[in-house]
Amino acid sequence: MNTPTTVSTIISTTAPTNQTEWQALAEKLDFETRAYINDRFVDAQSGNTLTTINPATGSVLAEVASCDDADAALAVKAAQEAFQRGDWARRSPTQRKVTLLKLADLMQDHKHELALLDTLDMGKPISSALGDIDGAISCLRYTAESIDKLYGEVAPTGDNNLGLIVREPLGVVAAIVPWNFPLMMTAWKIAPALAAGNSVILKPSEKSPLSALRLASLSKQAGLPMGVFQVLPGYGHTVGKALALSMQVDCLAFTGSTQVGKQLMQYAGQSNLKRVYLECGGKSPNIIFADCQNLDKAAQHAATAIFHNQGEVCIAGSRLLVENSIREDFVARVVKAAEQMQPGDPLDPESFMGAMVDETQYRRVLDYIQQGQEEGATLRAGGEPLNGPGLFIPPTIFDDVTPKMAVGREEIFGPVLAVFGFDNEDEALALANDSDFGLAAGVWSQNIDRVMRVSRKLQSGQVYVNNWAGPDMTVPFGGVKQSGNGRDKSLHSLDEYTEIKTIWMSLQP
Ligand code: NAD
Repeated sequence: MNTPTTVSTIISTTAPTNQTEWQALAEKLDFETRAYINDRFVDAQSGNTLTTINPATGSVLAEVASCDDADAALAVKAAQEAFQRGDWARRSPTQRKVTLLKLADLMQDHKHELALLDTLDMGKPISSALGDIDGAISCLRYTAESIDKLYGEVAPTGDNNLGLIVREPLGVVAAIVPWNFPLMMTAWKIAPALAAGNSVILKPSEKSPLSALRLASLSKQAGLPMGVFQVLPGYGHTVGKALALSMQVDCLAFTGSTQVGKQLMQYAGQSNLKRVYLECGGKSPNIIFADCQNLDKAAQHAATAIFHNQGEVCIAGSRLLVENSIREDFVARVVKAAEQMQPGDPLDPESFMGAMVDETQYRRVLDYIQQGQEEGATLRAGGEPLNGPGLFIPPTIFDDVTPKMAVGREEIFGPVLAVFGFDNEDEALALANDSDFGLAAGVWSQNIDRVMRVSRKLQSGQVYVNNWAGPDMTVPFGGVKQSGNGRDKSLHSLDEYTEIKTIWMSLQP
């Protein structure tokens, strides 16, 4: 317990350029495996560990502390004490900004190491992981820069009163995140929560804890005060549940499945009615109208929208809705684009797709592929996994899908595209909105009237017009329906981590 960290520090001066160089860097890595509680790296109190495996090779990466209720209690106590001490919560926003920008700079210095940790831990291609780390850094910088530019309000009262509306941090925020974009999803939660002055406890996914633990040591180096940022690796049903049921946690910031999101709302009801912000699953429709001007570009985006990150993307464009008059031709273009997106060694910068995160997810995706065939969808590409040892599934495309089929309704979270045909705008909208989810949607058309009409009628947190997933940090990200109720990114993300307080003063006339 409490031994000093032995994690190697690999400064990102020169970028590895090929598979061999990335492999060489990977072999130098020394993982932090302990929880980070109250400024210290410690084993779980129970001594339990969980095994994290590289899904591209099947080899064991590390035994990581598996925290539970006892560790959660310690972290919550430290977080609360830090909040009450106020050395972060009441520090001026400008000073908090300086510390968070320093953390962003440290992440930049360690960019290659952080990307490598995510690639080894969950199988994503290194080029994609590097993009994620850029996204995480940009989120931290944007949010840090925002926090000292947000003003309170003065209410429009008469002269006898002064009504001040001020924003205050909530207290203790537990951020519970998934494995598909380990560090980027983390940044989307912790950046606004910390910038607003909260104490944050991060629970990374049990499938990808390594970059979060590395981030903990960088946060210490950046000068975040004791107890303000802590990391508890472990399982959802142990440490995640303990945080969610805690009477001292004021907010749950969650990204993950709809099923677990529903559980978290119950835990909040069973405990202290803590705020629960959910970013959950999706089955996002991408609608291609026959008047789309650039079908090759649309096909390329349609393929990227589902096969990027092996399809393990919440906003994957997993339902492709194509106007029947161009369907045959368009699907052929998507199949062609997908041929260039085959999975490969995640350490090869040329690989577009990597390995599925673990055996469970791999089996789940293969089961859906089998079900699609049994339900009568037409297999146009893929369908068979690659030979091992890694967990690789190629781009798989089903045509003639109907809304009743599981491959057309359920979130598969893998590289499986379901193609539907439609004859007119109303039919396209009805198909698109016939879903429990409402995270993202795409519209491809040159007709501006149609684009606006359809965009407004789509039940979706975001609509992409003639692109897919292009937006930067300046716009909010989140879902409607069972895709959740939270908003990450943009200035709106700060709303979730601040309380509005009214101060009403009576003044002498
Ligand atoms: P998951 O719901 O299984 O797990 C997410 C996190 O919740 C993990 O850290 C897990 O340990 C924890 N957890 C599980 N059970 C818990 C419990 N009972 N109490 C507290 N915590 C618990 O999801 P996943 O498999 O890690 O990620 C895939 C899902 O995430 C997909 O549905 C995907 O769409 C969604 N996702 C959504 C977004 C978004 O922004 N909307 C982004 C990325 C991923």
